[in-house]
Parts: sequence; C-alpha cells; structure tokens
Amino acid sequence: MLPPGWDALGKDSFASDHFEAVLDGREAYKPEEITYFSGFRPPPGFLKTLPNLKAMFSLGAGVDGFLRDPELPRLPLTRFVDPTLMHEMAQYVVMHVLIAHRGQRFFDAAQKESTWRQRMLARPSRDTRIGILGLGDIGGTIATSLLPFDFQLSGWSRSRKAIPGVKSFAGDSELPQFLSQCDYLVCVLPLTDDTRGIIDAKLLARLPQGAWVINVARGAHLIEEDLIAALDSGHLAGAVLDVFQAEPLPDDSPIWRHPKITATPHIAGITDAQAAFAYVADCVKRCENGLPLENVVDLVKGY
Ligand code: NDP
Repeated sequence: MLPPGWDALGKDSFASDHFEAVLDGREAYKPEEITYFSGFRPPPGFLKTLPNLKAMFSLGAGVDGFLRDPELPRLPLTRFVDPTLMHEMAQYVVMHVLIAHRGQRFFDAAQKESTWRQRMLARPSRDTRIGILGLGDIGGTIATSLLPFDFQLSGWSRSRKAIPGVKSFAGDSELPQFLSQCDYLVCVLPLTDDTRGIIDAKLLARLPQGAWVINVARGAHLIEEDLIAALDSGHLAGAVLDVFQAEPLPDDSPIWRHPKITATPHIAGITDAQAAFAYVADCVKRCENGLPLENVVDLVKGY
C-alpha cells in the first residue's frame, strides 16, 4: 500500500494528452505557427512538418525518443537536466544497493514467518565495489550519493572524470578492467548506437561471480535473455530493472516472476512538471533573447 498523495502516472506523462489531441486532429493547430516543441517521444516524421520550428526541448534527460526519428530537423535540441530528477535517480540506486547489500529481502521473509533470524553482513561495504556505467549528470550524482557508505566506487565514461573518491575508467579499452571490479554494476548511460545492447552475455561474463546488475537507463541497453541466463547459471546474484526492452513489460515476460529480479515500472526518476515548465520557459526566453541554450545535445554523439 502506498501512503496518501501518490498519483498514478498517465499513459506517457503529463505532456502526452494534449499532444495526442493535436496529432489525431481533435485540437486544431497551424503547423506554421509552432516555433518551439517540447516532449519525450515525438512520433517519427512529426517534427519535420513544422516549417518554422526553431528549437526542440526534451522533457526527459535522455533524448533517444527524439533521435530515433530519421527525419529529425537539424535544429538545437536540449535535454532536461534537473537536480530533483538526478536526486530521485540517486535515491533509487542507493535504496536498491542497500537493500541487496544488507540482505533486506531475507529479513522481510523472516518477518513474514515471525522468526528471529540474525545474520552477519555477507561482506562489509569497504570491500564491496560499485561501478557506474555512464558517469554524467545522473551517474555522477549517484556516485556522490553513495560516497558516505564507504563502498569502493568507480565509473566508466567516454572521457576521464575527476570525482573525489570515485575511480574513473574511460573509453572502450578500459571497459573490461572496469567490469572486472564491479560487484554492483549500475547502468545510467544514454541510449545511442554505441551503447544499444551493451549489457550482453559477453559483458556480463566479465563481471565478478555473484555480481548484481541495476539498469536505470533504457531497456535497449540490456539483452534481457542474456541477463536471465547469467542469473539462472548462478554467475549473477540478482538484478534490479526499472526499464525494459518492451514497456509496459508484457504479461508473459519471465522478468515478472524471476526470483532474482526486482522490476519497477520506469519510475526511478520522473520529470517533475513544475521544474519542466520552468525549464521550457527558460529555453524559450533564451531563444527569444538571443542567449545560448544550455544542455544542447550533440547530435553526432547522440547525447
Ligand atoms: P549525461 O549525458 O549527463 O551522461 C551520459 C554519460 O554516459 C557521460 O558520462 C558519457 O561520457 C557516458 N557515455 C555516453 N556514451 C558513452 C560511450 N559510448 N562510452 C562510454 N561512456 C559513454 O546523461 P544523464 O546522466 O543526464 O542521463 C543518462 C541517461 O539516464 C539518460 O540518457 C536516460 O536514458 C536515463 N534516464 C533514465 C530515467 C529513468 O527513470 N529510468 C530518468 C532519467 C534518465 P562523457 O561524459 O565522457 O561524455
């Protein structure tokens, strides 16, 4: 049971109702009057129908929903970088790392049976290694949020980072070494041509025996069949997934019932409506006043 105050999310967030009304013709609009667009996943081909569009503002931190459009106008595209979202993502990861690290599921089960089962921690945090795939805005916040708990922290990114207390691995050549020292692997990469399907059997085999995988990035980063095989073989101890190849997760997905998987419905970090409106207003103001936009996506790199 959730405490009072929790609202169900709409099908595709607060932005979609109006957008769908426009698309299916229930709300009239003149394409030539639209100069700015903001949303999550505009239907491919839609944005090219707006002849006077000046800029696009993603309401999510990821922009894969825009870049999947082969006819995306070559205009400035910004992504949503928001402290509330970054902290929510970090809370989710810290919570799930601690639940696994502290064996909380075991104690939940013991409580259900009204039994007093004391156990030592399997391993102290100082000997437990957490690696973050993608050490950008969110990955960096996750790393610094984990710092006080005395874990060994590292991150992998394209360029070298200098976050105190977090070992930096950079580029494809350092990926194997990074993976070999991850008892927990947290994925918070953007989805690009380079990162699609990155968590496959080959990558999982490089993780230490008994590792955990936590994916809060995009479902397409992970080959789900390979993850399940690695869990079933005993190579991995568990997984926490917030994102999936198909969303909503189909009823017949084995992920729902897998004893070693915790699955949540893409809620690790949800765009805060108030912050989103302030961000869009700021972007429009900047454009109208000839000021540079912030967090502009590199369309070649794809993030
Ligand atoms: P950033 O752009 O700030 O960070 C991306 C990081 O990934 C950077 O460190 C970048 O390296 C690294 N990276 C990208 N491509 C590669 C590559 N090929 N090899 C190595 N490193 C790479 O993004 P955010 O942190 O803001 O967001 C990350 C993702 O999180 C989003 O794209 C989105 O998919 C996901 N997300 C999920 C949510 C959820 O609810 N589950 C909510 C919000 C976001 P470098 O710094 O060197 O460029």
